[in-house]
Amino acid sequence: MSEEKSLNFLEEIVEADLASGKYQSILTRFPPEPNGYLHIGHAKSICLNFGLAKKYGGKTNLRFDDTNPSTEETEYVESIKEDVKWLGFEWAEELYASNYFEQLFQFASQLIEKGLAYVDDSDSETIAKEKGTPTQAGVENSFRSRTVAENLQLFNDMRSGKYSDGEKVLRAKIDMASPNMHMRDPIIYRIKHAHHHRTGDKWCIYPMYDFAHGQSDSIENITHSICTLEFIPHRPLYDWCIEQLEIFPSKQYEFARLNMTYTVMSKRKLLQLVNEHHVNGWDDPRMSTISAMRRRGYPAESIREFCDKIGVAKRENLIDFGLLEFCVREQLNKTALRRMVVFDPLKVVITNYPDTTEMLDSENNPEDANAGSRAIPFSKELYIERDDFMEVAPKKYFRLSPGQMVRLKSAYIIKCDELIKDAEGNVCELHCSYIPESKSGSDTSGINVKGTLHWVSIPTAIKAEIRLYDRLFKVEDVANAEGDFKDYINSDSLHIIANAYAEPAIKSDDRSTGFQFIRKGYFVSDRDSTEDQLVFNRTVGLKDAWAKEAKKAQ
Ligand code: ATP
Ligand code: MG
Repeated sequence: MSEEKSLNFLEEIVEADLASGKYQSILTRFPPEPNGYLHIGHAKSICLNFGLAKKYGGKTNLRFDDTNPSTEETEYVESIKEDVKWLGFEWAEELYASNYFEQLFQFASQLIEKGLAYVDDSDSETIAKEKGTPTQAGVENSFRSRTVAENLQLFNDMRSGKYSDGEKVLRAKIDMASPNMHMRDPIIYRIKHAHHHRTGDKWCIYPMYDFAHGQSDSIENITHSICTLEFIPHRPLYDWCIEQLEIFPSKQYEFARLNMTYTVMSKRKLLQLVNEHHVNGWDDPRMSTISAMRRRGYPAESIREFCDKIGVAKRENLIDFGLLEFCVREQLNKTALRRMVVFDPLKVVITNYPDTTEMLDSENNPEDANAGSRAIPFSKELYIERDDFMEVAPKKYFRLSPGQMVRLKSAYIIKCDELIKDAEGNVCELHCSYIPESKSGSDTSGINVKGTLHWVSIPTAIKAEIRLYDRLFKVEDVANAEGDFKDYINSDSLHIIANAYAEPAIKSDDRSTGFQFIRKGYFVSDRDSTEDQLVFNRTVGLKDAWAKEAKKAQ
């Protein structure tokens, strides 16, 4: 039983609106601009918008906010749809702000007719200067007093392509002395002769965000339009447009955007990392994008769980990346198949074992009674992990060292009798003996050992490439660190092990879900895997290594 959670402030608003009969059902929207891949911050917004509607029997639209033709691409639209679906949500309708360009043009014309918008010929510097400052009122210029007829003519001429980029803008006529800078005659249309990914060359004028967003909400009858805190000062303009146009009264509500340690989340910065080859594309497993997390093996369920855990805040804060990893670990612990993989092999020869192969039984997941078991081949030639052996071991060393015994997981107890060194004096092989009565599951040896090692049998081992990922940044609060965020890139964030050795089951396993490589962490097959060369990404370690580091540093 989950304990009962108190309502967040958005749930309270929705419950009140439903109780008062203001709405019979709610409609939310997720409004990405298709100018990049979605990141974990967007996942928060997705879970919030879709989650809220779902909880109260409402619906959610997926609306692409595609009003800026120069940065938007169809590739991004496709990736966004894939990510939302993968996260487990279904939208009611797939919509585009560009669907409404004609309607928005009509809305703007209505404002002109009401004497509430005018065409301004000033250049952008003049407009900025005349806007004043937060402590100083702006000034009204002469274009502000153009007649309705003149404005209508000019606006239509803007549309028909008579002017070049920046030559004219359409502004709402509100209040040049408003304490809210956004209300000082904001620009609502600009000229931009650019090809749009959906409307092609039909338009050369495009609505600004503030004119497109609220009206799009209203056209769709969105009841609760949820956005992040930076839009609070935009809200009076959002309401003003809807009021003046007398259209469906959508309402805007704001929550704190998600920020996380050791990563960046602005699409602009993510794009830089991609373009400047600091990472290998948008879905490089070190990125904060949803596609990167999917590729890294984060289950969608653990991302939803994380978004639920952090709740909905009204103040900005920085969430520990470790919390997301905790959710990933918790989920994978329940579902991941346990397999043995040796990353840095040291050969072991069991001198008293016959020249045959024995199949040993080992459970797939001790946390899941239904996961069954698989057979692991055991033979006299094995690999163990090089760092599971020490020639001169300290007192409480429970792994292998000369004369010492350990258990091989799901197999036998072995004892290290002799070590073989190469020409340089490095240990290259161990000669061990096994205790035949110590077989796991039917151990009658009476011998107690403290250490259990993972291993693979050499004749049947499968070679695999392992990619170990670490944090992409070295500092916690990357966005607020001094100087260029790229100065803080962790140059050691990818470590590739070209030749690891895995037990053969991995070849026939369903590789669409995650594995736990015993004693190593959680891993997932990468899409670079081929029949001949398996590639695995480390999803997350078994424990939070960074938390330990942080404690040590204290
Ligand atoms: P970015 O700054 O990363 O480019 P954005 O806000 O420009 O993000 P949009 O595509 O416009 O990206 O965002 C779509 C929705 O996702 C918006 O409602 C936005 O408020 C929300 N969103 C974006 N980033 C975050 C975040 N870090 N936390 C929560 N919600 C976010
Ligand atoms: Mg945006």
